[in-house]
Amino acid sequence: MKDETKLATLGRDPEGHHGAVNIPVYRASTILQPDLKTLKEVYAARERDEQVTSYGRIGTPLTYAFENILAELEGGYRAISFPSGAAACSGAILSAVKAGDHILVTDSVYGPTRHFCDTVLKRLGVETEYFRPTINAGIKDLLRPNTSLVFLESPGSLTFEMQDVPAMAEIAHKHGAKVAMDNTWGTPLYFKSFSHGVDLSVHAATKYIVGHSDAMLGVVIATKESWPMLRDSARALGNNAGPDEVFLGLRGLRTMAVRLPRHMESGITVADWLRGRAEVTSVLHPALPQDPGHAIWKRDFLGACGLFSFELDRKYSDDAVAAFVDHLELFGIGYSWGGFESLVTVAKPHGIRSAEPWRDHGPLLRLHIGLEATEDLIADLKAGFDRLNKAQG
Ligand SMILES: *Cc1c(COP(=O)(O)O)cnc(C)c1O
Repeated sequence: MKDETKLATLGRDPEGHHGAVNIPVYRASTILQPDLKTLKEVYAARERDEQVTSYGRIGTPLTYAFENILAELEGGYRAISFPSGAAACSGAILSAVKAGDHILVTDSVYGPTRHFCDTVLKRLGVETEYFRPTINAGIKDLLRPNTSLVFLESPGSLTFEMQDVPAMAEIAHKHGAKVAMDNTWGTPLYFKSFSHGVDLSVHAATKYIVGHSDAMLGVVIATKESWPMLRDSARALGNNAGPDEVFLGLRGLRTMAVRLPRHMESGITVADWLRGRAEVTSVLHPALPQDPGHAIWKRDFLGACGLFSFELDRKYSDDAVAAFVDHLELFGIGYSWGGFESLVTVAKPHGIRSAEPWRDHGPLLRLHIGLEATEDLIADLKAGFDRLNKAQG
């Protein structure tokens, strides 16, 4: 079955739901059982890891459907949903570490994941070392006897460096370390992380899975080997997603295979147009043949989403950049991405990176290309460049 067909058909159970095509929202805490014998059986089935409805926090037919589609789509064993992408990142890490461990995390990791490592994880006695995003096989030299996890994100947040995931996973596994990856950019459609050696794949479902900028949701998908630790640690933390958010995630999945190709196509069109602008010194988008990560992207990925950055010439002041950004009509100014609408933010990796400082760069703008017509988006950006140049004088 092709992915499009999987997304349209998996996780449906009309017979069990009065003919409803999609599984309806289950709002439940208590699950009543008819007698003590059944209650005992249900809890025993839960112990055997069967997807029974035993308590709201553990899962309902809706959460199981959502999680199973994602696991099936990406090629993992099982999945568990979290209340946000940030919770999914911390949840994946917490499932793989113990006090005294050392973990390796890409310097291009999503900011709040870094914050989690530098604060909570540090307090729990786990040491985080950041590595150069394009270190690839060089990761070998950083592994220590107590390294338990390598955390990847490819392409990286804000700066879009690509990583050789299979090469890094092979080295980590030889060493006995697990590999987690923030696969939000690739989505379960465009990067099949488990066939590239990943043990724990993390998604901010808030982005393309929900797809409409109206809910916070996360998911971690695991291999069979990593599943028990992920499940037990997530359950121990009680960090479950709410039913309405899971419903919006499942609903988003139904159209994801139609939305993503459009985001990809429009993103490449706008990125290509930006490359031709004199004000732009580089466009950071791995699907462009000129990008340093293009060969890896082409080898490992099945597509691209609509998120990328571009760098302006260093001569442009903050005021000129504000003149550009502030009056864009079709690009909202704000964080997050993956919805139907275009967004812009000014990215500032300068003060954040530690393994490979981000310096001697001009202003960095990150765009999310939504489902609007690219002609309109380009006209909006063109007017922005006019304002940029006028303000710069
Ligand atoms: C947004 C994002 C997250 C966090 O997701 P939230 O749902 O906002 O908590 C994690 N990783 C990446 C790469 C993201 O872009």
